[in-house]
Amino acid sequence: MRYVSIIGSTGSIGTQTLEVIREQGDFKVSALAAGSNIELLEKQAREFKPFIVGVFVEEKAAELKNRLKDTNIKVVSGMDGLIEVAVQEKSSIVVTAVVGMIGIRPTISAIQAGKDIALANKETLVTAGHLIMPMVKEKGVNLYPVDSEHSAIFQCLQGEEMREIDSLIITASGGPFRKYTLKDLEHVTVADALNHPNWSMGSKITIDSATLVNKGLEVIEAKWLFGVDFDQINVVVQPKSIIHSMVQFLDGGVMAQLGTPDMKLPIQYALYYPHRRSLGGERLNFAQIGSLTFEEPPIDVLKGLKYAYDAGRIGGSMTTVLNAANEKAVSLFLNEKIQFLDIYRIIEDAINAHTVIENPSLEEILETEQWVYDFIESR
Ligand code: NDP
Ligand code: MG
Repeated sequence: MRYVSIIGSTGSIGTQTLEVIREQGDFKVSALAAGSNIELLEKQAREFKPFIVGVFVEEKAAELKNRLKDTNIKVVSGMDGLIEVAVQEKSSIVVTAVVGMIGIRPTISAIQAGKDIALANKETLVTAGHLIMPMVKEKGVNLYPVDSEHSAIFQCLQGEEMREIDSLIITASGGPFRKYTLKDLEHVTVADALNHPNWSMGSKITIDSATLVNKGLEVIEAKWLFGVDFDQINVVVQPKSIIHSMVQFLDGGVMAQLGTPDMKLPIQYALYYPHRRSLGGERLNFAQIGSLTFEEPPIDVLKGLKYAYDAGRIGGSMTTVLNAANEKAVSLFLNEKIQFLDIYRIIEDAINAHTVIENPSLEEILETEQWVYDFIESR
């Protein structure tokens, strides 16, 4: 029996991970953590019987402790609690399904404790990839991508040699605003932006898909995961989200991974790698699909992708600035404090105001995050 810790168990990826575990029946959940949703955490704790449950918000942790007092499940809180969940001694793998760069410290702790990582939390690699990847190597742990594009690339690379690849081709749906002009974007609402054509996901990543910041974060994530240069990463729009990404090799051959849009496949592949388990659900019917079309991403309108290439090429603390400014801007947008296009203005202003720190330490990354938040508040 293998044991798993899940950080962010109440979210879109977290709940789908638990569905996979329930359906497959041969993983034991040793630890769960979330931010504040103790109603769902309590249900999950009663069903999966972990040793510990972490709640980031202190008062909510106290409340959950009270609710679970008829069990012997330990309830922990705050960042220390998330870390305790990440390093739970029985766990051999940690699913990082938390949203945002709050995931950095638990992920680092898990790697240092020798755990394999099933990584959904892309913000961690975007901001701290230069710390995480050498640590993964040094500790000899495995880092399995959960993000569908990166899982696709990982699947295409099985049995291949990295030195024989030419480039990675990341596919993008284009999101709900693929055909919009800048003028159209002036009046879009939160509900419009949350209306993703193909995927049902947490609200932050859904907004990121609408701005194309998500695709930008994925480019930076791919750079770290696969050790390629930005010049070797291309993005193409494939509106139906059937091709999840591709790899082009030196001989011009292209491998692609296809499937219906269902995150359970990449979650399951990360948990059971190198094995494939049966997974229910629809199968692709190519005759019914009829055609797959491809487009250039609309980078001059949905500027998230361009910002990410720029910040990624500058490197150092600039990717933290991109990510932190975006996290803050998306939260302001979701709370209807700013308009959709303000997300870009905030990111651009933060990038322009920042003096880059090369090779930032964990402390410098967290200080940069705080600097960005203060900068945005001060405007
Ligand atoms: P959700 O918003 O659905 O879930 C976020 C999870 O993080 C919840 O469990 C939430 O807990 C938890 N969380 C938030 N803040 C904290 C905190 N301070 N401490 C501890 N836990 C916290 O997000 P998604 O599942 O959509 O996304 C998770 C990650 O996976 C993101 O990095 C995203 O980019 C990535 N990803 C998601 C995909 C998807 O299909 N959803 C696809 C590819 C990548 P609570 O419920 O208590 O607030
Ligand atoms: Mg993705």
